[in-house]
Amino acid sequence: MAEKTMVIIGAGLAGLSTGCYGRMNGYKTHIYEHHTMPGGVCTAWKRDGYVMDGCIHWLMSCKPGSGFRKIYDELGAFRDNRLMFLDHYVRFHDQDSDQALDFGSDLDRLAADMKAIAPEDSLSIDEFIKGCRDLAALDMPAPEPRELGMGAGVKSLWEMRGFLKYMIKYNVPVNQYTLRFKNLFIRECINKLFLPDMPVSFLFVVLGQLAGGQLGCVEGGSQRFSDAIARRYQELGGEITYRASVEEILVENDRAVGIRLADGSEIKADIVVSAADGYSTIFQMLGGKYLDQSIRHRFETWPLFKPLLMITYGAAREYSGEKAAQLIKLPKPLKILNQETDSMHLRIFNYDASLAPSGCTVLQATLETGYDGWIDLQKDSAAYDREKERIAGEVLQIIDGLFPGTKDSIEVTDVATPYTWFYYTRNYRGSYEGWLMTKEALQTQIPKTLPGLQNFYMAGQWVEPGGGIPPALYSGRNLIRILCKQDHKIFTVAGS
Ligand SMILES: Cc1cc2nc3c(=O)[nH]c(=O)nc-3n(C[C@H](O)[C@H](O)[C@H](O)COP(=O)(O)OP(=O)(O)OC[C@H]3O[C@@H](n4cnc5c(N)ncnc54)[C@H](O)[C@@H]3O)c2cc1C
Repeated sequence: MAEKTMVIIGAGLAGLSTGCYGRMNGYKTHIYEHHTMPGGVCTAWKRDGYVMDGCIHWLMSCKPGSGFRKIYDELGAFRDNRLMFLDHYVRFHDQDSDQALDFGSDLDRLAADMKAIAPEDSLSIDEFIKGCRDLAALDMPAPEPRELGMGAGVKSLWEMRGFLKYMIKYNVPVNQYTLRFKNLFIRECINKLFLPDMPVSFLFVVLGQLAGGQLGCVEGGSQRFSDAIARRYQELGGEITYRASVEEILVENDRAVGIRLADGSEIKADIVVSAADGYSTIFQMLGGKYLDQSIRHRFETWPLFKPLLMITYGAAREYSGEKAAQLIKLPKPLKILNQETDSMHLRIFNYDASLAPSGCTVLQATLETGYDGWIDLQKDSAAYDREKERIAGEVLQIIDGLFPGTKDSIEVTDVATPYTWFYYTRNYRGSYEGWLMTKEALQTQIPKTLPGLQNFYMAGQWVEPGGGIPPALYSGRNLIRILCKQDHKIFTVAGS
């Protein structure tokens, strides 16, 4: 029987995953990608001999045998790549008081350090550490899609049973949970560890994974991870066209029949999958014709990951012994356009010599910022460049205060704004990870179809609330399982 044809919009990790599993299961796949390279937001770029990494801080479930690792291996993500395991999450440093706390993999040490700072919170600290410890031992399974029916739902509940009791017990936003800490420094550290609005259970998962030796990243930067999966896709016989922006999803009698690219060419297919940004898929490529109340509710009310300003420097010096991930509470707020921010993340890539010339180091500051101001500003390219340069200078001044001599060693500076993310990946309002991990978002399974539209499916972070690399990858895998079921095929995974 002839293979069904499938066009996939977007060569981010979800599109690549859909393509790989599609090929393994007899679909003739072709990915059309807006950018010139694969990976979407999971990317890195080169400037004057330095690799500027734009994504992976920590990849979950990396240990051989664990749930997501199976998927990374099926997709060949670590083939020709060296996986580096992490033993430190972040150092929180209040510049004003010069107080610091390291969140590392040794939970006994963390408990002792926290109690030394806040003996008055001893009981709450024990409870916090217990949450991390409980979750360190649990493997994280990919959820079963509801489209696979009741049996899959029961299987999912069974596989998640270990987690569920913690998900229920700790289903409270981090910033509410931390009210139990009397010590304001400890409270602020925990609030800023990841996202203050997400359920504290997820924070326990991350710190538990660190303690369990499950968090990793890829030597050479995030693009190597994406490139490896793109290679696997092409080895499986998948086709891919870059610089191909999809403007419209072609529909006949409420059936998706293909796509129209920006150059006007039309490509017909039996199945259309969008692994691209959710808003532009639903409201632009499909003209907002296939909607229901729950979709409107999401786009009107659900918060998004806040856009970022990412400033990367190439420094002609070493930073040996310094903590690679630092969260700096600034002594005075930094003004970015019309908003102020009081903290910044600093990454010192001293653990990966392949990212910089010998004896040199990549440094990266990340700050939350607004979206609309940057979109307005980029219309005047000189003003846009001036503002980027101004902020890069101020941030460098802060880094120089922490690591004297840095300023004079800088050879290259690169500034990515929310407009940069939109320009290269089209993600809605610069949200690099889709829907924020709120209680409501994490409790919702978003369907991979749209109401009233046949032959059309979605994959990726806009249908997997909370986003992240594992969800992007399992979303493509689950979609092909759904299609196999509909086409009466047995889902198979080809050896990697
Ligand atoms: C700074 C940063 C740090 C992160 N850190 C981590 C981390 O440590 N751990 C982790 O697990 N996750 C992390 N993430 C999140 C994770 O990278 C993403 O959630 C995931 O990669 C999203 O993949 P995706 O395929 O769903 O979406 P995307 O990467 O957005 O891919 C969508 C693709 O569709 C293309 N596209 C869009 N519109 C069109 C169109 N009209 N026509 C053709 N193509 C189109 C885009 O160009 C893009 O390639 C981070 C992300 C960022 C930006």
